Amino acid sequence: MITRIVEMSGGVGGARLARGFSALREVESTVIVNVGDDAPIHGLHVSPDLDTVIYTLAGLEGPQGWGRADDSFLTNTELARFGVDNTFRLGDLDLALKIYRTGRLGDGDTLSEVTEAVRAAFGLEVRVLPASNDPIRTMVSIEGGDQLTFREYFVDRGHQDHVMGLDFDGGPTARPAPGVVESIDGADLVVIGPSNPPLSIWPIFAVREIAEAVRRHPRVVAVSPLIGGRALKGPADVVLSDLGLGTGSQAVVAAYRGMIDTLVVDTTDRGDVGEIDGVRVIALDTRIVEPGPSSTLARAILAL
Ligand code: GDP
Ligand code: CA
Repeated sequence: MITRIVEMSGGVGGARLARGFSALREVESTVIVNVGDDAPIHGLHVSPDLDTVIYTLAGLEGPQGWGRADDSFLTNTELARFGVDNTFRLGDLDLALKIYRTGRLGDGDTLSEVTEAVRAAFGLEVRVLPASNDPIRTMVSIEGGDQLTFREYFVDRGHQDHVMGLDFDGGPTARPAPGVVESIDGADLVVIGPSNPPLSIWPIFAVREIAEAVRRHPRVVAVSPLIGGRALKGPADVVLSDLGLGTGSQAVVAAYRGMIDTLVVDTTDRGDVGEIDGVRVIALDTRIVEPGPSSTLARAILAL
């Protein structure tokens, strides 16, 4: 029997779990991806999380989890000649995808249509859907009152600032991309990947119809991005705490209030197993940097 899974994903963490599900023959999976980090860079439409998901599913992701493996940076380096800010590093292979996307969007195609073509070009069977074809832009308010774009906060300033609040510009009026709500409604199980809850998953839920579809689904499992209470990489633990949600597994439950029935935490956090605020908490090995452990985790989630 085929199980239909829909996963909500940001970049690296969500992509790693998506790869696990994609290896299971008995699963038909759809990944719904955050577009809140999308930004124009050198006039190119960069969708960091969509590209991380595609590259990871294809087994071509870079050593840090984003970008392409074995990429070179000749073009990026050469941009400095023109006095261009090239701190957002884009590899030569990676640039091809960005150029292709930007061209097609300029021709009037939608982000969904381009993503479908990219999926096919990489020979993937998993469906990859942007949360929306309408722009949603994550804006980060930091101490002192400044509001930064996601890129300024995350890349330019290295996520060192304390986060006072988040806005998802365009979210409230954005429509779900074609197939998003239908795939959630038709799924046997909805999984929220081990992505940064406020920065990677909230912008997906900023689309009201997506949040409603997840809320009405009877089986929603989230995987915590925390291992031993800390983010494996990036600021998830700090941002959860800055936003007043607390620490550890309890903070992840708080971030997904009303959305999930089960939280999977890492075995290093097995002290949290039981129940938190009405959510069942179970422990599994969630360290899924490699494909093998990722499909083991995916299989265990299916068996819950
Ligand atoms: P970004 O857009 O690339 O920052 O992506 P995400 O929000 O999807 O991923 C960042 C989160 O993934 C971080 O909070 C990490 O802790 C989490 N993460 C990355 N690899 C793993 C892993 O192997 N296991 C778990 N549990 N979390 C992971
Ligand atoms: Ca991201």
